[in-house]
Amino acid sequence: MAEAARRRTVTVDVGGVPVGADHPIVVQSMTNTDTADAEATALQVAALAAAGSELVRVTVNTEEAAAAVPRIAERLGQLGTTVPLIGDFHYNGHILLRKHPDCARTLAKYRINPGNVGGKRHDENFRAIVEVALANGKPVRIGVNWGSLDQALLTELMDANAARPEPRDAREVMLDAMVESALRSAALAEECGLDHDRIILSAKVSGVQDLVAVYRKLAARCDLPLHLGLTEAGMGAKGIVASTAGLAILLQEGIGDTIRVSLTPAPRGDRTEEVLVAQQVLQSLGIRSFVPQVTACPGCGRTTSTFFQEMAAEIQAYLRRKMPEWRERHAGVEEMHVAVMGCVVNGPGESKHANIGISLPGTFEEPTAPVYVDGRLFTTLRGADLVPRFLTILDEYVTSHYARA
Ligand code: SF4
Repeated sequence: MAEAARRRTVTVDVGGVPVGADHPIVVQSMTNTDTADAEATALQVAALAAAGSELVRVTVNTEEAAAAVPRIAERLGQLGTTVPLIGDFHYNGHILLRKHPDCARTLAKYRINPGNVGGKRHDENFRAIVEVALANGKPVRIGVNWGSLDQALLTELMDANAARPEPRDAREVMLDAMVESALRSAALAEECGLDHDRIILSAKVSGVQDLVAVYRKLAARCDLPLHLGLTEAGMGAKGIVASTAGLAILLQEGIGDTIRVSLTPAPRGDRTEEVLVAQQVLQSLGIRSFVPQVTACPGCGRTTSTFFQEMAAEIQAYLRRKMPEWRERHAGVEEMHVAVMGCVVNGPGESKHANIGISLPGTFEEPTAPVYVDGRLFTTLRGADLVPRFLTILDEYVTSHYARA
């Protein structure tokens, strides 16, 4: 049975982006460039931000990477990108943050993995990172990952479980150890003087059911904002579906204040895909709107040419392309709903439910494409220039229906 999620009451300011409480759920992403390559990293951060990532994390794993962080921020400034940068630290964060004060100042948040701050010197190293955060007025994310779970803590809980008259399942103990690791680390950070509203927690696993179980436990035991995501989600459809399945259940229960979709890109694939998927998860659940939604039918034997798929793809791409300009000029345009349908069977009906919709002629149908605006037949298009004429109608609709921002 699900443990009740405690309402998030804490807001953490991450470089000007509020995370938690009633604030919109924040989309974030992570680069996969070598952070030491400041130019490549800045370009990828800019691309992720342009796609809609509201926070971007970079790995800070070496002296060179730490030294590059201020240069990345400077280059982003030249590119006109203002997205907050988050530093991801493992093993040597306590050394790098102290040795590179410009890096510590530039980053908007530090991610600490309590399983990777150094065995016997765990508390000492953890405190060192928190002290840098305190000195720079930065928040931290305590990010537990089951692939690097604090082994001493896991052993402690496993031993305690073994001593019970009826020991619990090892999986349950492992999930409890993740929650304990996050909560004990948060308590230690507060003991070091970090304010409660400077802490975000996460407990990532790679299985959907484990993700749901661990976040329900975590949400029931604290009021801190939660960073949500399925770690190592995988590639392609598997990664997208698994991430969506886990995120959707938890977001529907009110759990999760910032999300990341950890997709493995295809070779030479586009890193910004993870941002678009995260946005689509939130938009499909009706939690946030980012871009006008296109309802397109799947096509069938009535749409034997590729024209219908090409048109649907062209309209979708056009909406994405226009969004940065429209967002600036037309308030609420991201709520617009466009229907692109393959034939008249469901086309006019679906078009009437959209703000603006078009039904293409199916095979053997009269070569006309009725366009509906706000539920009424607006015009009927014919001929080879159907798509540009529909896009013109779309532009005019945006201009006339969404007030100047
Ligand atoms: S709307 Fe027409 S083309 Fe599209 S799936 Fe339905 S019957 Fe097929």
